[in-house]
Order: sequence, then C-alpha cells, then structure tokens
Amino acid sequence: RVQLLQELKGKPTKTKEGQEVHLYANIGRPSDLDAVEANDAEGIGLFRSEFLYLESEDFPTEESQFQAYKEVAQRMGGKPVIIRTLDIGADKQVGYFGLEHEANPALGYRAIRICLTRPEVFKVQLRAILRASAFGNISIMLPMITSTKEVDQARAIIDQVMEELRGRGEDFKEDIQVGIMVETPASVVMAPELARKVDFFSIGTNDLTQYTLACDRQNPNLGQFADPHSPAVLRMIRMAVDAAHQAGIWCGICGELGADRDLTATFLDYGLDELSVSPASVLPVREAIRAR
Ligand code: PEP
Ligand code: MG
Repeated sequence: RVQLLQELKGKPTKTKEGQEVHLYANIGRPSDLDAVEANDAEGIGLFRSEFLYLESEDFPTEESQFQAYKEVAQRMGGKPVIIRTLDIGADKQVGYFGLEHEANPALGYRAIRICLTRPEVFKVQLRAILRASAFGNISIMLPMITSTKEVDQARAIIDQVMEELRGRGEDFKEDIQVGIMVETPASVVMAPELARKVDFFSIGTNDLTQYTLACDRQNPNLGQFADPHSPAVLRMIRMAVDAAHQAGIWCGICGELGADRDLTATFLDYGLDELSVSPASVLPVREAIRAR
C-alpha cells in the first residue's frame, strides 16, 4: 500500500475522464514543508499563521513574520502558497492580546473581527505577507467572513498597506489574489455577493460544520449530531461552489472534510477546483481522484 501511494508522486491529480483538481496541503509552520515535499503536494492551500502569534511572548514583528512567509514561498518555488491571516480568538491563549474571557469563544471576538478592529495589528501581518509575495506565489486568505462589508474593510486596509509599501520602495505582488474562507453560514448565504469581491473561496468545513449544525467542534460528546456528512453541510458546500463558479472564481475545501475519501466522488460531482488536506492525506486523496 505504501509502495502504491509512493508511485503516485509526480502523477497528475486527475480522474479517468480528465477532471483535474488542484491538490494542496495544509501547514501550520515552515517546518511542515518537509512533509509537504515528501508527499508531493501541488501547493499550500492553507498556511495557518497562528503559530507565529502563539509561540511568541509579544506581537511578532514584521521582520519575523516576513522571514517565515518568505521561507515558505521560496521553498515552494512557483507553487501557490495561500496564507491565512490571523485566526486567534478567546479560545487560544495569547496573553499579550489582552482578550477577555468569553463564555462562547467560537461566537466571539476572533479572527477577522480582531483584525478589523485592531488594524495596527493586522497591518503588520499584511506588510509581512505582501513583502514575502515578491519571493513566490503567495495569496491572502481571510478567515471567518460573514459579510461583504468585512471584505470591503479588509481590502481597504490591504490597499493602505500596499500604498505604504510603495512609499517605502518595497517590492510586492501588485496583483496578489485575495480570497476568503467560507466557514460561516452567513458567508454561504451571501456567497453570490462575496464571490464578486474576491478571487477565490476556500471552504472551512471544520467551522462550517460547527456553525451550521450548532455543534461546538471542541465538544467530544456530540457524536452523531456533529456529522459533517449531514445533508445540511453538503448543501452548504454545493451552494458555495455554485456561487463561486457563477461569478467565475475557483472554490476549494481546506477543512478536514476535504480528505474524506468517502466524499471524494461527491466533491468531484460538485465541481470543486481544489482540495487542501494534511500532508499525509495528499497521496491517498490523489489515489481516490485517479480511481474515479
Ligand atoms: C476550518 O474551519 O475548516 C479550517 C480549515 O480552519 P481551522 O480548522 O483552522 O479553524
Ligand atoms: Mg476555521
């Protein structure tokens, strides 16, 4: 079996009928790149940037973030690297943010909500990502979006940062792609409007399952009720893909469900353009797609 999977390295991720899917990997830190290379992922579909903040005693500097993003971009060569902007919240202990204790952290002050209300923190990360974009094929991905207003606000801040970098004479990718995670029911409902404002969608099925089914993803006692195979979750996925394609943008999945081989055929039927999975799942998912 291991031998069979190894033989899939370098082979296209394509069905027998020729339907192609981009098969990327999720990473949480630059050291995960060894596993990405060993498993022949075609890009990074989700670079969770939280580690920089969680492993630091104070706000990570622009320089330290720049070095981490640049390292990943360079090691991936020209392959896509989708960096998700900060997604911490009250459930993650980052003392220096001074976040208040919350009864419902999943519904709380987290991710894009922190970034939009504390633009001075967000801008440091954006400067680092944009500067790193001169060294590879980087895109920006915004988490926890629920409205077009949030996208407009984030884009306005990105534009300001670009202007500052031009002023500083720094290089960056002027046409950098900006996408969103589709991981709230509101973003699915608003998907037709959101799709006109961004370059891609990536579905976060971990949070989308939690919010759609009203099941805390941290609660181990919910069993059958927290079922990501629920028709409600699958219909949400389908709605997001359809809205993306209507607007002419691509749509992928970067939540755990993307690696669920029992759903690979369903995702192919829905027309998903990309699946981003843990490095260890890349070859098994390639096998499932090629077997179709
Ligand atoms: C998700 O919610 O599906 C996702 C990919 O993001 P995270 O697991 O980091 O919340
Ligand atoms: Mg999420």
